Amino acid sequence: MKKLVLASHNAGKLVEMQEILADLPLQITSAAELGLGDVEETGLTFVENALLKARAACEATALPALADDSGLIVDALGGAPGLYSARYAGRPTNDAANNAKLLDAMADVPDGQRRARFYAVIVLLRHATDPQPLICEGRWEGEIIRELRGSNGFGYNPVFLDTAHGQTAAEMDTTLKNTISHRALALQQLKQQLATLY
Ligand code: IMP
Repeated sequence: MKKLVLASHNAGKLVEMQEILADLPLQITSAAELGLGDVEETGLTFVENALLKARAACEATALPALADDSGLIVDALGGAPGLYSARYAGRPTNDAANNAKLLDAMADVPDGQRRARFYAVIVLLRHATDPQPLICEGRWEGEIIRELRGSNGFGYNPVFLDTAHGQTAAEMDTTLKNTISHRALALQQLKQQLATLY
C-alpha cells in the first residue's frame, strides 16, 4: 500500500477521494488527521493554490500529497468570482450572500453573454521538490441565470444552469452531477493517471 496525504481539512472530500480510488493500492490520509495547519492560498491561479497546499503537506509529512482547488468562473465578470468563489461576499463562506452578490453583479448582463464554468484542479506532488506534478483538470460549462432554482448541493448550484440538460446544478440529480461535474472529470483523470503510477 502506497501512502498519500490529501491536503484538505474537508472530511467530505477525503471520503469522496477514498471511494473513487478504492480499487488502487493507496492509503489516503487527510491533513486534518495528521494535524496539519491551513495553508495561505496566495497563488493567482487555481493550480498555483493547489500546488502550494500539496507542497506544504509534502514538507510536513514527507509523503506524496494530493490537493485540489475549485471555483466558478464567469466570463462577463472577467473570471470572477474565480479564486475567491468561497468568499466572494466575505468570510465566513455564505452561499446565500455569494449567490445574491453574483445575481446583482450579473443583473445588467444580457442573455447570450452569461457564460460561466465550474473549474476544478487536483494535483499530486510526489515530494516537495517534484518538478513534474500530476495535474488533473475538469470544466463544467453553463450559464448564470437570473434567479435561484433548486435546492440540491451547495455553493453556486442554484444559479448555474447546465444548458445541455436544462437544469441548474441544484435541480440536478446528484448521481448525474457526479458524472458530469468539473470535480467528477478531474477525479476521473486522477484515477486514470494514478493507476499508471501505483
Ligand atoms: P473549494 O475548492 O472547496 O475551495 O471551493 C471553492 C468554492 O467554489 C466553493 O465554496 C463554492 O462556492 C464554489 N464551488 C466549487 N464547486 C462547486 C460546485 O460543484 N457547486 C457549487 N459551487 C461550487
